[in-house]
Amino acid sequence: MRYVSTRGAAPPRRFGDTLLEGLAPDGGLYVPESFPRLELGALRGKSYTDLAGAVLQPFMDDVPGLAALIQRAYRAEVFGSDQITPLATLEPGLHLLRLANGPTLAFKDVAMQLLGELFASALARSGTSLNILGATSGDTGSAAEHALRGKRGIRVFMLSPHGRMSEFQRAQMYCLQDPNIHNLAVRGSFDDCQDLVKTVNADAPFKARYRLGAVNSINWARVAAQVVYYFKGYFAATRSDAQAVSFAVPSGNFGNIYAGYVARAMGLPVRRLILATNENDVLDEFFRTGRYRVRASAVATSSPSMDISRASNFERYVFDLVERDGARVKSLWQGLEASGEFDLSALRERIVESGFASGMSTHGDRLATIRQAYERHGVLVDPHTADGIKVGLEHREPGVPLICLETALPAKFAETIREALGREPERPPGFDGLEARPQRFELIERDAAVLKRRIAAIAGDDGA
Ligand SMILES: *Cc1c(COP(=O)(O)O)cnc(C)c1O
Repeated sequence: MRYVSTRGAAPPRRFGDTLLEGLAPDGGLYVPESFPRLELGALRGKSYTDLAGAVLQPFMDDVPGLAALIQRAYRAEVFGSDQITPLATLEPGLHLLRLANGPTLAFKDVAMQLLGELFASALARSGTSLNILGATSGDTGSAAEHALRGKRGIRVFMLSPHGRMSEFQRAQMYCLQDPNIHNLAVRGSFDDCQDLVKTVNADAPFKARYRLGAVNSINWARVAAQVVYYFKGYFAATRSDAQAVSFAVPSGNFGNIYAGYVARAMGLPVRRLILATNENDVLDEFFRTGRYRVRASAVATSSPSMDISRASNFERYVFDLVERDGARVKSLWQGLEASGEFDLSALRERIVESGFASGMSTHGDRLATIRQAYERHGVLVDPHTADGIKVGLEHREPGVPLICLETALPAKFAETIREALGREPERPPGFDGLEARPQRFELIERDAAVLKRRIAAIAGDDGA
């Protein structure tokens, strides 16, 4: 499989190159040259790891020993069961796909655990090292750090918005004492963190000298790893390959739901991909109107992992929407830089055909949905999952099973659970007293020069 850039001006690459490179040199994101079609009949009934092998092999055909890496990433000891992403049925035709049973209790573990194995294996083969530079709104950072802690040849620099994460999220990251993990709290928003990463990566000599890599959802490996559980959820919710289903997905950076779009392109019978935003409703507006208008900054909400005003993976979807015309994508993004918006309302029909529907959920909706899920179905869901369920139910159709993606466990967002139900969410074993553990982080200004100096100082002159 070859990978091309969404901006059309970078040479095609193999998967192994995109894994370590992050953004393409023309500023675009790598996407596979084509989406492989899978034969559903051959996949039903497979274990998670066998299914992952079948879905990932065509994307990662240059990775030696892929099956063994998958076996190591997806173990019952790490994800609580060998289902990895079990399906819970709330009522006939309404399901919850549980993606948040990994080490940091958010769906990002599913992709990160594999990414950790892929990185370690690639670096061991090449005998080189890598400095991961990432930005997190809360869940990516801890999932990455827990997947990469102690891994040889890898150092992690993770930017997080100072004071914007839940206490639990903060503790999950900052309590790691592994010497290869560096938490940098930035005075600013998540978008500011993401901009800093972009700015530093745009300095090609710096990037090469310090061998910077990415774990943010622009990394194709993460998208690919997430495609697997759409297949898993589909087979668990249906008896026949003729049945179409819809997925409801709480969205921020458009990584999770874009994986659903890829699954659909690979032949999975997906009727609707129902995108839910919180009060930061840029993507909802796009799917309703065709206009993409980014806001100056995201507002802080009670589903903080979706507090994003510019969704990085969205460019991959737009690339397909404009029939893979890289020059067109480039000019759209130039327009976005200049005016903060672009208008694809002329492509409304294609947007609908691509399977998307959308809606938004407010703090009040979130609380009401958490209560309703608890009272009607006896399940306690986290605020992000609640956003997905709220919007999913608005688009539910008779005869079409609805699979809502559970993206985090409620224990991560206790404050909102207390507000909704007046009780504490249960903590899985091993998380008691987390916030009281010693924390290790550094506060930095929102300044790329400051960030570069810190990376240089820690990584040393050899960059490794
Ligand atoms: C990251 C995250 C999201 C948003 O997922 P995207 O892939 O960025 O769209 C939703 N919910 C939770 C809990 C998350 O951690």
